[in-house]
Amino acid sequence: MKILIVEDEIKLGNYLKQGLSEAGFVADIAVDGLDGQHLALTEKYDLIILDIMLPFIDGLKLTQIIREKNITTPILLLSALDKTQDKVKGLNAGADDYLAKPFDFAELLARVRSLLRRKSNEIKPMRIEICDLSVDLVKRVAIRGGKKIDLTNKEFLLLEFLLSYQGEVVTRSLIASHVWDINFDSDRNVIDTMVKRLRGKIDNDFDKKLIHTVRGIGYILELR
Ligand code: CA
Repeated sequence: MKILIVEDEIKLGNYLKQGLSEAGFVADIAVDGLDGQHLALTEKYDLIILDIMLPFIDGLKLTQIIREKNITTPILLLSALDKTQDKVKGLNAGADDYLAKPFDFAELLARVRSLLRRKSNEIKPMRIEICDLSVDLVKRVAIRGGKKIDLTNKEFLLLEFLLSYQGEVVTRSLIASHVWDINFDSDRNVIDTMVKRLRGKIDNDFDKKLIHTVRGIGYILELR
């Protein structure tokens, strides 16, 4: 799952990105409101963490802009302004939750997970099954043929992404933009190596293969 962090305090932004990636998420950082607006309107995210006090466009205004474009991605506002009035303003502007600075990372993570759970209850299943492979997207566990498969964060993200496009061909650039952050310059070898490793874990010990190469284009996950 991919998260956008809009935060002008560079240290805090990096700290959040680091913590979220350790928790298994991919995160992009925007350091001001304009940059945040650009990413929020052009890229696809599962959640947006948005500071209120930002250069150029503040977090409340940006929330409004995002909602006016009918983007329903959950928004968690961050702000030093711990006043009821600001919370109300933020939630009225279309944000889903509000966290006052300073906060514990554990609390932020709990809120992120809760927002994603709420969202996934509405639109996405929590568990995906294909053939004898069962993937729990919340617990982040993959089981095939009754055996748990040990996956790294990145491998799990890749599997989750391929599953979300089950039966459709995904290009390497699509994989790059969902499984890596925006600074990754789509290196074909890195993507192919990652797919190969995932395939080794998911398919090698089984007769029915799920991940297939589509020559010249990319990959597809389906039961053939
Ligand atoms: Ca700020």
